[in-house]
Amino acid sequence: MAHAPTLPYWKGFDVGIEMQRCVDCAQAVFPPRSMCPHCHSDAFAPATASRGVIEETTLQTGSPPILFGSIRTDLGPIVVAEIVGEGGAPGTEITLVSTNKRQTGGLIAVVPQPSIKE
Ligand SMILES: [Zn+2]
Repeated sequence: MAHAPTLPYWKGFDVGIEMQRCVDCAQAVFPPRSMCPHCHSDAFAPATASRGVIEETTLQTGSPPILFGSIRTDLGPIVVAEIVGEGGAPGTEITLVSTNKRQTGGLIAVVPQPSIKE
């Protein structure tokens, strides 16, 4: 899946979520770890996931209702996110943002950025 990492439209909206890419096996890792779960290396380079595809969703009822989704990111790992904007059906491509909830007119997935756990 190839996408432009950012479009001018999104500039300033904190597009992308920070992940790690293992230097030894090249797998992307999220949430951040001190050791690669694939090869046990501790050498990581930063990597940014900008886009994803919604795999499944759950609607939390309430006022207002909140739509959560499992999203397969363009780097591979699946993240759980709050889906903001019109649409959001499984199979939909979506832009990933870290914590910025400003409505931009587009469909976004808000992924909390976890800290590294030892
Ligand atoms: Zn690795």
